[in-house]
Formats: sequence, C-alpha cells, structure tokens
Amino acid sequence: TGKEEVHEFKTETKRLLSIVANSLSLFGKRSIAHHTELNHNICEIDIYSSSELVSNAADALEKLRHHQMMEQGLDSGKPLEIHISVDQSKKQFIIQDYGIGMTEEEINDNLGTIARSGSKAFLEKLDKDGSGSKENIIGQFGVGFYSTFMVGEKIKVYTRSAKPGSKGYCWTTDGQGSYSLAEADNVTVGTKIVIELRDDCKQFSSKIEVDSIIKKYSNFVGFPIYLNGGKVNTVEPLWTKEKNSVTTDQHKEFYRFIAGAWDEPQYTLHYKTDAPITISSILYVPERHMEIIGQRQEPGVSLYSRKVLIQPKSKGLLPDWLRFVKGVVDSEDIPLNVSRELLQDNILSRLRTVMTSRVIKWLESEAKRDTKRYNDFFLDFGQFIKEGVCTDAMYKKDIAKLLRFETSATKDNEMVSLKEYADRKKEDQKRIYYLLTPKRKFAEESPYFEAFKKNGIEVLYLYDTVDEFVVNHLREFQGLDLVAADSAEAADDPLLSLNTNDTASGEQLSETDAKELARYIQETLGFNVVKQVDVSRRLVNYPAVVLEHESPAMRRMMQMMQGSAK
Ligand code: ADP
Ligand code: MG
Repeated sequence: TGKEEVHEFKTETKRLLSIVANSLSLFGKRSIAHHTELNHNICEIDIYSSSELVSNAADALEKLRHHQMMEQGLDSGKPLEIHISVDQSKKQFIIQDYGIGMTEEEINDNLGTIARSGSKAFLEKLDKDGSGSKENIIGQFGVGFYSTFMVGEKIKVYTRSAKPGSKGYCWTTDGQGSYSLAEADNVTVGTKIVIELRDDCKQFSSKIEVDSIIKKYSNFVGFPIYLNGGKVNTVEPLWTKEKNSVTTDQHKEFYRFIAGAWDEPQYTLHYKTDAPITISSILYVPERHMEIIGQRQEPGVSLYSRKVLIQPKSKGLLPDWLRFVKGVVDSEDIPLNVSRELLQDNILSRLRTVMTSRVIKWLESEAKRDTKRYNDFFLDFGQFIKEGVCTDAMYKKDIAKLLRFETSATKDNEMVSLKEYADRKKEDQKRIYYLLTPKRKFAEESPYFEAFKKNGIEVLYLYDTVDEFVVNHLREFQGLDLVAADSAEAADDPLLSLNTNDTASGEQLSETDAKELARYIQETLGFNVVKQVDVSRRLVNYPAVVLEHESPAMRRMMQMMQGSAK
C-alpha cells in the first residue's frame, strides 16, 4: 500500500458538509406516514441518502455499460450489479457497485470539491436567502454524495477505475474539514462506500427497513440490487428502454405492478423527449376506471428522477382530472429530493404543462386510430374528460376535442366530436346546437327540434346532467357558440326559419292576423305566465312552443318540484 495523503476539503465543501451533517435535526427525522402502518421507522433522510447512493451506483454502472459499448477492454469481469449490506451490530451501511469507479484525480475532483451543480446552486441560494430555510433548500437541490453525512459519522470510499491499469484507492473522512487518500490493495473495479452510522441513525442498518426503502423507492433502478445477498428489486425500468423493445406482455405486467390492478391497459403511451425538458415516461389508461361516486381516486402517476422515485402517485404532475391515468414519468431535470412537498414548483409545473398536452394529444390520436374503441373509452371515462373541460381552464379548449356526443345525425350509440360537427355544419351556421334530453326519441319528437330537422341542422343530444355544465363552461368551440336548441337565443337564427311551403298545410294567417293572435294569447294568459308572445316561422307540426331564458335543467328541476308538491 502506498502512503496516505491528507487533503483539506475546499472551503465551500466544508461549509456544505457542516450544513448537511447538522441537517438531521433540521429534517427532524420525520417518518413517512405510509410506512408507519408497517411499523417501520423509516425517515426521510434514510430514503434520501439511500436514493442518492443507489442513484450514484446506478450512474456508475450506466457509465461502465456505455464505455463497454464504445470500447473494448473495459470488461471488469463483474456483473453490473449493486450490492448493499447492512450490519446492525456494527452500525454499518455498505453499498458497492461494479461500475466505472474513480481514478485518483476523479476522487479528488468528485469527492473533494463540490462537483455537483445542485450543491453549488444550493450554496448560492443559501447565500441569497439566508439560513432560515436550510432544509427546504436541501430538499430542492439535493446534495448528492454529501447526503451520506446526514447519516454517517465516518465514511470510507474504496474505488478502482475500470480503465485498464488503474490502481485501487481508499478515501476516508469524518467530514470534519479533511479527508485522507491512500492506495489500497484488493479493491474491486467499481466503488464501495462504507458508512459508520451515527448513533441516532442506527435504523439505517436494519435489513427490514432498508429492504422496504429499496423496494419502494428504487425498485425500477435498471440494475439488480442485492441486500445482504438477496435480490431486492424486481421490475425493470421499462420506460428507459427503447419503445419498440417493450412487449405488450411487459407493459401488461408493468401496468399491473404500478397500478396494483389486475386488468389490462387499454391505451399505452411510451413517451420520451429532450425538449423543453428531459422526460422518459410510460402512461396507461386502464380497461375500466375504479372511481365510484363520492370517492375520488388517487392520482396514478409517479415521478422519478434517473430511475429513483421522487414522488409516488404525484399530485402535481398531472391535473386532477387525469387521475385515471397510471404510470411513471422520469425526468433527469428533477433533483433527487428528500421531501415531496418541497419539490421545486416550477419544474413540476413545467413537467405538468408538457405532460398534460401530451396526454391530450395521445388520446386524440387513439381516437383517430380507432374511433369505435375510443367511443367505448369515452362511454366509461367521459366523466373525467367532462370534468377537465369544467375545471382545467388552461386546457379547456384542447380537452373539448376529446368530447363525444350523439347527435341528430348519428345513430344510437354512435358519437361525434365537436370538430366533426363543426366541419360538417352549414356554411353560414354560426353556432353549435344542443338539446338536453334523456333519450334520442324525446329529442326527435320535440317541437324544438322541428326547425332543425327541416333545415338539416345537426343538434347534439346531451343525455348526461353534467353535460349542461360542460357546454356552459366551454361556451364556444372553434369560434362557434354553443347554444341550446330550445333557448330563445336559438329562435333568432335565420337558418331556422322555414319557407311557407314547409309549414303545415292549410290556410296561412296574414301577418296582421298573426300579430293580432299573438296579442290575444298574451292578454289571455297574462304577463305572469308569459313575458312575450311572438309569431314564429320555425314550427311545422306544433302550433306553439315555450321559449325561455333559464336553463332547461333549472326548468326540469322546477317541474320536478311542482310535481312532488301535487
Ligand atoms: P451527481 O451524482 O449529481 O453528479 P453526487 O454528489 O451524487 O453528484 O456525486 C458526485 C460525483 O461523484 C459523481 O458525479 C461521480 O462522478 C462521483 N461518484 C459518486 N458516487 C460514485 C460511484 N458510486 N461510482 C463512481 N463515481 C461516483
Ligand atoms: Mg448523484
């Protein structure tokens, strides 16, 4: 073994280390609610530290794999694996990877200085904001390797670079200002980190707890993770794979795993992009949704960064109306984060913007690909789409493209989109007409419908009580106002007036006689009953219709109340 050299940490590193080492009290060892039911005492710092370490190990393996693909001769003879071992009696946590390892220079550069941009940003932010909210800031940026010092009082790193001819080294520190570096014998290619745990972090050497953390938070790391010899993670991170290499069966299995479901996804989206933000994602629409009235479903998409779980079933990643979507979104632009509620809002909202439009486009393209299947989807999931139109002001117009309605021009159970309606409307038609009706038959026999039928103007049939809220929220589509066919507003439409030959056979009243008749009706019924009586050219078989300003739903409610009062 060569001689040992002692190096001072850089000033900024010292500063970071002292903050991190004291962050234990700042984080306050908050335990995670969903683990308490298992009687585990897992803390956010445990999750945080292990996530950072596992992610570094996975990065190192990824780099080695990459190099192996590019050059020959980098075969370390070891499998691409991560081995963790914990020993409660020794208060030890050891993580070893057979990855790329580090040369002497790399050790000094990576572990002696703050290489990580997140850590730099952390210190800068701290200078700006003062020391009031350190734990918030650590949570936002992530301090990477230095998070080891949250749980450990003595850290040893054994490492040997995979580059041919590299020597092994041992790097040791208690985090108090300096570290020592020495050549070491019998070091395997890759990196082994030995953490002597602080007294108050003993739980981090419990096999049960570490097992549970790894299973929950690193299950999709793309390399096998062993804990005291037994393999812990089971599922491959499918989203990082090439789209075409993932089979339907793999998707099915993965979907079932993440959704905790037994059905099959009816739609699958495997989506990757580099701009405006790096995303690898897989999303599914289940066969059926499980929401029952009065019981809102939890969101179903989890947020990852570099295969490490950041937010399980993230609330902010997709808007609420998309809670029926299951899946995983992985973005390298998200810092590994200790605490979910601290996740930087602007990154999350950028992700949400990109993902929301992508999901809408996805559903649109599924609709184009197979109309019938999409209509079946809509019959079951339409309520979410409708909720989206009513609650998501930003995407209302786009979501509206996903709506489907039966109309006077479709058959039973056949539906069209608003766009189809708009594309085939009459040339000078300025509105989209709808009729709230419990049944097609009622609509077709309705006096309000006569003029539309005669003039060949398509009318949407809204069967669902929430549909009225939907059209009221939407108000217009592609510049066409949505107007109720039985409203007074509709009666103004010149397109709806009929030729004299269209109207019922028999003698026509002269205009003066008709006006006289209207006046007579008005006087006879009185102003309490009708506000105004007009001569209309829009009726064929019916002598008169009631037009009014309040909503048809309101009218129905009044009728119901009057009915029950009898
Ligand atoms: P980041 O992972 O964001 O780069 P970290 O603080 O987690 O920041 O790690 C700093 C650097 O230390 C890494 O970029 C890497 O070069 C090196 N490093 C850390 N852990 C390992 C490891 N297990 N194997 C090889 N290099 C490592
Ligand atoms: Mg890292």
